[in-house]
Amino acid sequence: MNTMNANVAASAATSELDLARIRADFPILAREIKGKPLIYVDNAATTQKPRQVIERLTHYYTHENANIHRGVHTLSGEATAAYEDARRCVQRFVNAADEREIVFTRGTTEAVNLVAQSWARPQLGPDDEILITALEHHSNIVPWQMVCEQTGARLVVAPIDDDGALLMDEFAALLNERTRLVAAVHVSNALGTVNPVAEIVRLAHAAGAVVLLDGAQASVHEPLDVQALGCDFYAFSGHKAFGPTGVGVLYGRAALLEAMPPWQGGGDMIKVVRFSHSEYNDIPYKFEAGTPNIAGGLGLAAALDYFAALDFDAVQRHEHALLEAATARAHAVPGLRIIGSAAHKVGVLSFSIEGVHPQDLGTLLDHHGIAIRTGHHCAMPVMERFGVPGTARVSFALYNTLEEVEQVFDALEKVRTMLVD
Ligand code: PLP
Repeated sequence: MNTMNANVAASAATSELDLARIRADFPILAREIKGKPLIYVDNAATTQKPRQVIERLTHYYTHENANIHRGVHTLSGEATAAYEDARRCVQRFVNAADEREIVFTRGTTEAVNLVAQSWARPQLGPDDEILITALEHHSNIVPWQMVCEQTGARLVVAPIDDDGALLMDEFAALLNERTRLVAAVHVSNALGTVNPVAEIVRLAHAAGAVVLLDGAQASVHEPLDVQALGCDFYAFSGHKAFGPTGVGVLYGRAALLEAMPPWQGGGDMIKVVRFSHSEYNDIPYKFEAGTPNIAGGLGLAAALDYFAALDFDAVQRHEHALLEAATARAHAVPGLRIIGSAAHKVGVLSFSIEGVHPQDLGTLLDHHGIAIRTGHHCAMPVMERFGVPGTARVSFALYNTLEEVEQVFDALEKVRTMLVD
């Protein structure tokens, strides 16, 4: 048994998940980087893909490739059926009441922009407020700033405490009759904080506001049930959920989507086009102008099916064990400051080390085969809140092992000694 397999076997003994089998599903994990086995702990940036997803993409391009919705030939019919099956797969995954509530997008960013331009821009005016939280990724800040510029509405930000948890009393106090929309992250990519989203939805609805949740970091780490959450919109990206890049999802309540104008014009989003006037298609197609990422949609469905076949509670417990082990090791590193220690977190550990630039740390860890992320994580206001230009971030997925955690921190301690002492 080589070292890596021995490590996996050891970790399997401490996890309810069949880690050896799971890791074998992700071909890239067998790679070496600079002569060392890859340790991939940059999962908040993007997750790796199981061969079930890779094979789905290959199968589509090898056997089914055709444009959808418009063709009468067999291939087009098959591709259309597969794409609409993928939509139903997403519907089941998020537990939406109706498949028409699932809009395929390029990702979370496009989903948020869709709501900003199609729901918020036509509705809001100078007397209105959009309430976000201080934990947001740029993609749940900038689209609202643009809407505020376009409509005169005001962007209001609910603060967080020193642990990186949302101050719920302050959040509640900021809600008022002018609040038309609450846009909140489900899980912070920079800190790992899990927002109390059900409570956020309850309070926002009581104040008469519509709620969008950014689920980019939550979709495969936290339970996801849009009906139980009661949110009006929920956005997530395929590539952070073991699926392909360039595809994502906007869930929207049917009544809201039906009342919204389209935001991009083109093929597929229309029923009739005349030079005098065009008639728009029904939801969700009204929001899907042009040829979509067909293979991406199929790959996303394969990813969600793969994930749904696992024991979700065991996945959560495993990722939590990884976070606990990493946090314990981090506490023992001289000069290391953990940034983000909310009581409810997913497997994301952000930190800075006195006297060490995060980028140097990331570059030197790469020489050990270790992939971490460094920088502002597209959450500059979060960095500002903690008075740092950026952090180093280790983020876990279900295929990571406790041995990898040890290896990351062994390497980190060596690198720190090199840079500081
Ligand atoms: N929201 C959060 C919390 C994220 O972590 C990310 C990506 O890092 C996004 C939104 C944007 O996702 P995408 O780049 O896939 O559109």
